Amino acid sequence: MIDLHTHSTASDGTLRPEELVELAAERGLSAMALTDHDTVAGIPTALERGEARGLHIIPGVELGIRWEGGGKMHLLGYYVRHQDGGLGERLGWLCDRRRERAQRIVEKLNAAGIQISFAQVEEIASGQFIGRPHLARALMEAGVVSNMGEAFGRFLNPGRPGYEDKEELGPEEAIKLLKSVGAVAVLAHPRTLKLDAAGLARCVEELKSYGLDGLEAIWSGHSREQMSAYKTLAKQMNLLVTGGSDFHGENKPDIKLGSGRRNNVQVPDSVLEALRERRTPPAPSGR
Ligand code: AMP
Ligand code: ZN
Ligand code: FE
Ligand code: FE
Repeated sequence: MIDLHTHSTASDGTLRPEELVELAAERGLSAMALTDHDTVAGIPTALERGEARGLHIIPGVELGIRWEGGGKMHLLGYYVRHQDGGLGERLGWLCDRRRERAQRIVEKLNAAGIQISFAQVEEIASGQFIGRPHLARALMEAGVVSNMGEAFGRFLNPGRPGYEDKEELGPEEAIKLLKSVGAVAVLAHPRTLKLDAAGLARCVEELKSYGLDGLEAIWSGHSREQMSAYKTLAKQMNLLVTGGSDFHGENKPDIKLGSGRRNNVQVPDSVLEALRERRTPPAPSGR
């Protein structure tokens, strides 16, 4: 089995990249993609540990997409050339905007009488990437809330006193960025778009015109029926079927690495072969 959707402490997971790889090896996975949000900072450590443990690591990334459809659109990139300067610059820009957003959220929470500091949030985040789960942790540590769900429900969800939008790339730019670094571009968890069948087909058609390669049909938050409907759609549109748990460690404790929620995620090794065929190998470097 393989898992093509995981998050480490480089974004908003709670295991360090090397711990994540160790867990994957213990679970008996043969391959794992590290797909942190908006950063590839965890990739070198994951590759190194994967090599030591004989586990194939796919360098990946997950991008939030600006989209007017109402639901949430995320794209996954697989086999990204993670050392590419252009990619690093664009991701760095996204993380800089995230940092400013986290500062604005802290100011809003302070104005609402909640005493947390940006320095605390930075310490919890421990890297370039800051997301709402880090703000949720700060609220928990301050004793304002007792769990993540309460932090989002009372303060961090849209319409709550600590909500701020984040900067995102548009779908065309994001897919072209992924393709420019040799990656296979996949629409993550189609369910979160909140479209009916016809709307989803139109949306996927548009993404395909920008270069989309696949659909993440298998995902912890999909029902059996949704998984099979997304597989059918992928087949009709000549797209790859991929899958992963969306493991975040203790930030989403009901989701298990390699198996999702109550074993609902089972991604066969054959998905990896299809993915590898679709990637653009790096151009041969001159001497
Ligand atoms: P951000 O990208 O900074 O807006 O943060 C979004 C992340 O927050 C998502 O990736 C989820 O992992 C996490 N998240 C959203 N709602 C909740 C929730 N109710 N409980 C735990 N994590 C959540
Ligand atoms: Zn996340
Ligand atoms: Fe996602
Ligand atoms: Fe994810």
